[in-house]
Amino acid sequence: MNTATGIIKALNSGIKHLAIKRFTLRYPEEKLKFVGDGYQFDPSTGVGIAGSKGRHMLFHDKCTGCQLCSIACEGVAEAIGMVKVPEEHKHNKKAIMPQIDYGKCVFCGLCVDACPFYALYMTNDYELSSFSKEGLIYTPAQLQVKPYVSQDVEIQITNRGATHG
Ligand code: SF4
Ligand code: SF4
Repeated sequence: MNTATGIIKALNSGIKHLAIKRFTLRYPEEKLKFVGDGYQFDPSTGVGIAGSKGRHMLFHDKCTGCQLCSIACEGVAEAIGMVKVPEEHKHNKKAIMPQIDYGKCVFCGLCVDACPFYALYMTNDYELSSFSKEGLIYTPAQLQVKPYVSQDVEIQITNRGATHG
């Protein structure tokens, strides 16, 4: 192929793409909206509820301090440490709850599967970057705060493939 043919082919390919709608989003101005609230697990049926595996949400009123989430994580990432909490709950005599290090977490969701008390879910929050390692460690107090997630662009699946608004 000579140079002129190569240039024409390249221009032709570029021009074709001018007519095709851009698929990528202009992050962070645009963010894809996930379906559902995030990954959850129903221990009574043993069924996982599909969803994004982002930052966890811990429900203090349900956590018994049983440590099963921490044990589940041990063989994966050792991202969970059980720490003392100042609150007193009848159902959590040791007053311990999970703290998660997102510098180690691989977002596998096994800790959520291991929790028998509906105390640990995952959310759609993936924006966890921090300037320090310490900033990646989320205490039980931080984990109980529902993250503010602003995702506005919905994906549409048609028989011609996936597009977004
Ligand atoms: S999601 Fe993170 S914290 Fe939970 S088991 Fe997997 S690596 Fe550990
Ligand atoms: S989050 Fe669930 S598995 Fe982890 S300590 Fe609390 S009750 Fe146990």
